[in-house]
Amino acid sequence: MTDYLSPLNPAQRKAVETLDGPVLILAGAGTGKTRVLTTRFAHILMSGKAQPWQILTVTFTNKAAREMRERIAALINRPVEGLWLGTFHSLCVRILRKHAQLAGLTPEFTILDTDDQLRLLKQALEPLGIDTKRYTPPVLMGIIQRWKDRGLTPEQVTPAEENDNTNGYALKAYKNYQSRLLQLNACDFGDLLLHTTQILKNNPTVLGEYQRLFHYMLVDEYQDTNTVQYLWLRLLALRTEEPANICCVGDDDQSIYSWRGANIQNILQFEKDFPGAKIIRLESNYRSTPAILSAASTLISHNQGRLGKTLYSSQQDPKHESGEKIQIYSTHDSDEEALLVAKETEKLSKEGHSLGEMAILMRAGFQTRSFEEKLITFGIPYRVIGGMRFYERAEIRDGLAYLRILRQPSDDLALERIINLPRRGVGSVALQKFHHYAKTHNIPLLAAVRAHIEQKLIKGKSANELTHFLEVLENSALLLERDGPIVAAEHLLEESGYLPMWRNDLSLEAPGRVDNLKELVRAMTEFETLEGFLEHVSLVMENDENTENTAKISLMTLHGAKGLEFDTVFLPGWEENIFPSQRTLEESGLEGLEEERRLAYVGLTRARQRIIITHAANRRMYGGWQSSLPSRFLEELPEEHILHQKSALVQREHRLMAPSMHHHMAYSPRSLPSRSASNPYSAAYKKQEPITVFSEGERVFHQKFGYGTIKSQDGEKLDVIFDKAGLKHVLGRFLEQIP
Ligand code: ATP
Ligand code: MG
Repeated sequence: MTDYLSPLNPAQRKAVETLDGPVLILAGAGTGKTRVLTTRFAHILMSGKAQPWQILTVTFTNKAAREMRERIAALINRPVEGLWLGTFHSLCVRILRKHAQLAGLTPEFTILDTDDQLRLLKQALEPLGIDTKRYTPPVLMGIIQRWKDRGLTPEQVTPAEENDNTNGYALKAYKNYQSRLLQLNACDFGDLLLHTTQILKNNPTVLGEYQRLFHYMLVDEYQDTNTVQYLWLRLLALRTEEPANICCVGDDDQSIYSWRGANIQNILQFEKDFPGAKIIRLESNYRSTPAILSAASTLISHNQGRLGKTLYSSQQDPKHESGEKIQIYSTHDSDEEALLVAKETEKLSKEGHSLGEMAILMRAGFQTRSFEEKLITFGIPYRVIGGMRFYERAEIRDGLAYLRILRQPSDDLALERIINLPRRGVGSVALQKFHHYAKTHNIPLLAAVRAHIEQKLIKGKSANELTHFLEVLENSALLLERDGPIVAAEHLLEESGYLPMWRNDLSLEAPGRVDNLKELVRAMTEFETLEGFLEHVSLVMENDENTENTAKISLMTLHGAKGLEFDTVFLPGWEENIFPSQRTLEESGLEGLEEERRLAYVGLTRARQRIIITHAANRRMYGGWQSSLPSRFLEELPEEHILHQKSALVQREHRLMAPSMHHHMAYSPRSLPSRSASNPYSAAYKKQEPITVFSEGERVFHQKFGYGTIKSQDGEKLDVIFDKAGLKHVLGRFLEQIP
């Protein structure tokens, strides 16, 4: 009958069976908090205390909600419907749609994305005459969001805070912004909680309705709730007649969202708010080996602000008492680091470990690129969780379109993609004209654009912008010949206005896009030629075949890995300035450092059996190399559980050169000794661009000099007599053959 209870240890069982009254489960990573919560749900149903829809369950992500739903169904052996189970946001949307009018909205209200939010804020700033250079919209938006995180409406912001840093502008902006939102029948993410909390607070009948509905409340990842979420929970749970049946589970050491307003005080506050609350501690970790646990515990003990917990491993394996040691590899450089991770992955996979049980967890999103490429080179299936594969990201596809035109002026598709990115006043009508011209004259689109300019078929802004664009393209082509692909690409992305477009963009994603574009240029440094790079990229992108059902290694950020577990966890980039992140240290000092350390703790505790930490001594920055120091976190790991590995790859011949000497060197197949022969992708590195053979007297088109006739050819170099420009010495790749 109570099958689902038997796998639990006594503490867990107590946590499940203490159904009535407030319960706080405070326990370290992997002690079964989430499992307890799920089992508790099943137990409430099985003991007939409530119906499925009378239980409110809050998870941190939608993915976690889905998983929990499935597990509950499995535990009670039937599907469950009508559940109030989801993230704070999804639960609030549901309530808010029902009572929208109480917030001045209609039930059809729209939810703005971050781009729209900033656009709207800018509108709200206009009538205020704010110096937006000094008080930029993203900064003001940040302040507004923090107020919302704390449950403060504009009326509730105190004068002391109002005058904080912005001279009262932030509050004025907040007021205008909120009324614009109402006019539009819209709300932003923060409003979902703010409005719902206000509705519950100001409407006792509505509040009573939900208080009666929810007989039980379950909250996972409680350490990362912010103040407004806490107020929301407390409103629903604090009934006057009887103590609330609320159960929150959390781990103060895993609080990693303070930058989004999460407030660790909520845990401390719990006992005060819910007198008589039972605090249950789970101390047995079921996830990780003793070595991993010891590493994680030692590391986190360097933090000052902790509640303190004991954690011991449930694994007693007489042969390998503490399990595999944590492997730390120091590699010569970042390329080698990615190569090493790919090789280790392959090795483990050959030994029979499933790729589905491996993960690479990194500090920042842009770091996925180098690992994605090496995994593809090795033919290892992977997925990027919580983000797109690097080369699928919109800004990367745009950047590649620029590079493709540089390499191949007749790449019409590429041109079409970016001709109006940034805006150059080219609408669909103009584009059609170009297309028509190109077709009738049988020339590439770019040539048609040039013809329009030369023949003054277009005027005004678009003519000027396109003229500039063509000039930049020409200059980049010259730079490509003279200084190589990196210099050319930097020039092209910068001067065309594409990179500046993102730099000036105020949306919250823009800085990440700029980082990604820099990473794109950095990726090129591994190739001698633009052709080699683009060919490699097309192979990389082609690799997206349907592998729905094959096991894949997961790539994600440390933040995204919360609550998850894998047999093997790779933790790359443990270097100062990357991890701990320079930005966090600069912005939040010691508190920031402690949060970074908690992030490291989260990373370590995702592993069941094996951790491989890597750091590189030299990291590619575009334009060269930068040396980096090992992360201070490495020194905080217990020596007895560490195995310092020297990367075998260090011996490779070109490593003998100083980094600065080989940074333009193509990544040659020799650096993949065992794999290269059988590896289909190694061709990408070897293959030379075939030289087009022209015949004397053949008609050609050059993007700069126009139409001409071939005089003679010497490999890539040709002498061409152009109709207008006369005899020129040009490169074959800039010539289009005209049939
Ligand atoms: P985190 O802090 O990372 O969210 P958690 O405390 O929520 O971790 P769970 O994910 O619930 O921990 O459990 C960790 C692992 O231990 C899971 O694989 C779970 O199935 C397993 N586990 C938990 N309790 C037991 C138990 N009593 N017997 C066997 N396995 C258990
Ligand atoms: Mg959990």
